[in-house]
Amino acid sequence: MTTGFVWNERYMWHDTGSFANFLPAGGTSAIQPHIHIENAEAKRRFKNLLDVLGVTDQLTKIKSRKATEAELSRVHFKEYIKQVQVMSGADGGDAGGLTPFAKGGFDIASLAVGGVIALFDAVMNGEVDNGYALVRPPGHHALPDQGFGFCIFNNIAIGIKHIQETQNVSRVASIDWDVHHGNGTQTVFYNDPSVLTISMHQSGCYPHDSGKLEENGEDNGQGTNININIPPGAGHAAYLYAFERVVIPALYKFKPNLIVVASGFDAGGMDPLARMLCDGETFRKMTKMLKSAADELCEGKVAMTHEGGYSPAHVPFCGLAVIEELSGINTGVEDPFQPSLSGHGGYKLLPHQIEMIDAAGKLIDNIPT
Ligand code: ZN
Repeated sequence: MTTGFVWNERYMWHDTGSFANFLPAGGTSAIQPHIHIENAEAKRRFKNLLDVLGVTDQLTKIKSRKATEAELSRVHFKEYIKQVQVMSGADGGDAGGLTPFAKGGFDIASLAVGGVIALFDAVMNGEVDNGYALVRPPGHHALPDQGFGFCIFNNIAIGIKHIQETQNVSRVASIDWDVHHGNGTQTVFYNDPSVLTISMHQSGCYPHDSGKLEENGEDNGQGTNININIPPGAGHAAYLYAFERVVIPALYKFKPNLIVVASGFDAGGMDPLARMLCDGETFRKMTKMLKSAADELCEGKVAMTHEGGYSPAHVPFCGLAVIEELSGINTGVEDPFQPSLSGHGGYKLLPHQIEMIDAAGKLIDNIPT
């Protein structure tokens, strides 16, 4: 088993500036300036944990590269790409919808997209069995004509388009377990029957008005977009139930050639940007279930790209669990927050969680075969 890993120190140099969480601060406002919530710390600590445990050395390094403008334009409008380029060449700016970046942000965002493309290529070429791209900035909120929710370019969507156009891949399934709705990815593939997009997210969290159950795809893509709305306060058992009840059966029905994952760890119980109770074991078990489905459906081809996750203390252990499960490496290190999180009320499966997840399960019938 070989697991590819994409990392570039420059990803950590993407500078979101001085804010208070995500709110503008300072000046004459009443808010004291602090760091922006989407900063390098959680991701860097994830990489550091892999390093100190000797995991990174056992993974296959996949070299990142800058995506070309032609590659970016498979998803994004040329005018938008140009806007980001111009701001990036000056003093930076905002790509839209709470997406600040500093000078040079275009180059780092292009390097993130290129890292995801390189990983998808390596998995499809058989250079590695599966892999993880620990990139920054994240991508799943980015829309064709603007940035959104800390995302400049839609890394995973561009990766999917690349692999479909350059390799013999007709069907891709995209599983988004970031706690926020993968609205950008949904938008890109909403009428595309060749890509099954499933987003499991805290209902109404972000963006507030998207990710609803009724958003099931349109035109030729009818039935190939599934939103699993999970109520706030849900944790380990609800997420595994959503996998058993919806994600895995949907994959077996759709039969993809490649499974990609928008891997955010903000459903973790310590995260400040959502209200869920997952832990490292949750992400480990979801990865295990995905891998086993991938083994039967698409020669084990699973490629993950990093999205959100804003608890610098907790994210590394959720990430480690995923990398261990993908690679078969066992460090024996468990999520140290798990004993605390498993004592919370929503950790076990509750009736209102079952009801919301079952509603998404009914959509499996709509997936065209
Ligand atoms: Zn998120």
